[in-house]
Formats: sequence, structure tokens, C-alpha cells
Amino acid sequence: MRILILGGTAEARQLAAALADRLAFEVTLSLAGRTAHPLPQPVPVRIGGFGGAAGLAGYLCDERIDVLIDATHPYAAAISANACEAAEVAGVKLLAMRRPPWAKVEGDDWIEVASVEEAVMALGETPRRVFVTLGRNELQPFAAAPQHHYLIRSVDPVDPPLAVPHAAYITARGPFTEAGDRAVLERHHIERLVAKNSGGDATYGKIAASRALGLPVVMLKRPVLPDTASAATVDEVLIWLDHALTFSTARGV
Ligand code: NAP
Repeated sequence: MRILILGGTAEARQLAAALADRLAFEVTLSLAGRTAHPLPQPVPVRIGGFGGAAGLAGYLCDERIDVLIDATHPYAAAISANACEAAEVAGVKLLAMRRPPWAKVEGDDWIEVASVEEAVMALGETPRRVFVTLGRNELQPFAAAPQHHYLIRSVDPVDPPLAVPHAAYITARGPFTEAGDRAVLERHHIERLVAKNSGGDATYGKIAASRALGLPVVMLKRPVLPDTASAATVDEVLIWLDHALTFSTARGV
């Protein structure tokens, strides 16, 4: 069974590792090519966009892919929509690996917003010290609020830097711990966190640390994703794949 995993997440890498030694599966992992030095992957990798849903459908046909697994980040809405459309056009089974969002718990002070522009507005007029944990390509709207002091964390350096008078940068790749993130918040006297509701454990430290310190979190709401068959964990995907394999073997496909 030939499988294409759309990746760029820790789960995609974990899934690829779980499938790498299974002889029944031939797996390729696809990355968008956003990070300069992606981590090594346990299966063959292809890098770069496909050219929209039509390009992805063409790839699925050319490479005789049987199963497409969308294990992209919950905020990567365009590729998830393309995956849905392409799988239908190419007649390929699709499974989405969806990470449940974090739920608010007692003590959380979240200001939920629909876009980065709204996040900037939610910071208000008063100058504040703000920790921004969004992608480096999503920072432009913060230039409209130059009164704040920004601390920006990203995997690769922000280049060119944000056009504001007060910005400091941290380049780091998760996972991050609560203790480590609390130390960052305290050292930089942070008053507000701007974050996505990514879900999972790897980046929850900053949310827990903000709660512990009583800091408001400006939280970007999740985009709407296509309604497809989905699994939340690597184990669930493996069960789904074993079913799919049994079914296609029984049909002699
Ligand atoms: P996006 O807005 O949904 O996708 C934009 C375009 O990038 C897609 O139309 C596609 O180009 C290409 N693309 C995206 N993911 C791809 C993949 N896995 N393989 C090949 N092409 C891909 O995505 P994004 O938010 O820019 O995210 C890009 C990548 O970073 C994804 O792989 C995602 O898992 C990862 N990531 C995203 C976030 C986030 O917050 N958005 C966070 C962590 C990791 P074509 O139309 O040309 O095919």
C-alpha cells in the first residue's frame, strides 16, 4: 500500500517512524519546505508545494498513491482543503490526523480572536510586553502596533526583522516545557502571550505558565477544516490503515 503523509508536524514524523519498518506500506512524507533545516525523517521525503489541489491530485495519480494522510498542522487550512479535494478527484482514501485543541481550564484568561489582525487589536493601545509565538511569516500585522515590546519565538530567524522599534527574537524548536517557558515569561517581564491553539503537549508549556503567572493569552481560533475521516493519535491511524489493508487485500486490490 503506497501512502503519502502530508507532514510538517511532530505527529507526521512519529507516524512515519511507526510505518517505516512495515513491509506492507511504502511511505513518502511531504513537507512544504518552510523550515531551512528540517529534522531528519525516517522515510523518503519530498519537499515543496504541489501546485494546488489539481497538482496534488496529479501527484497522487502519477505516484499511484493508495492512501493520503493529512497530518499537517491544525492551522494549515489550505493544504487540508486541497488534500480533501485532491483525494476525491484521484479516488484515493483520505485520513486526517487531527490534534484536539486545548480546552480552557480554571485560571486561564483567554482572549479568543479570529485573525492575527484581531490579535494585534486585542493588545490595545497601552504599550505592553508581548510574547508572540506565531509563524515567522505571520508577523507583519504587528508592525501596525509599534508601541509594544515584542519577544518573538520562531524556528528560523525572522528575516527581515519586524519593522517595530522594540523587538527581540528567540530561535528555538519545540518541545518546550512549562518551567522553561515560565522562565522566558519572567525574564522578559511578559504581560501578554499571543498563541495559536495548537493542541498537544509540545507547546502547552507557555499556556500553563501564563495561567500560573495570571497572564492573559490572546488565542487565535482554529480555522475550519474539511469534515473528513480523522484519527487523533498514531495508534488510531495504524488501526485505520490495518483495516484499509485488510479490506483491499480481501478485494484482491
Ligand atoms: P497552508 O497555508 O495550509 O498551505 C499553503 C501551501 O503550502 C499549500 O497550498 C501547499 O502548496 C503548501 N503546503 C503546505 N503543507 C504542505 C506539505 N506538507 N507538503 C507540500 N506542500 C505543502 O500551510 P501553512 O500554514 O503555510 O503550513 C505549511 C507547513 O508547515 C505545513 O506542512 C504544516 O503542517 C506546517 N506547520 C504549519 C504551522 C501553522 O501554524 N500553520 C505550524 C507548524 C507547522 P501547493 O498549493 O502548491 O500544493
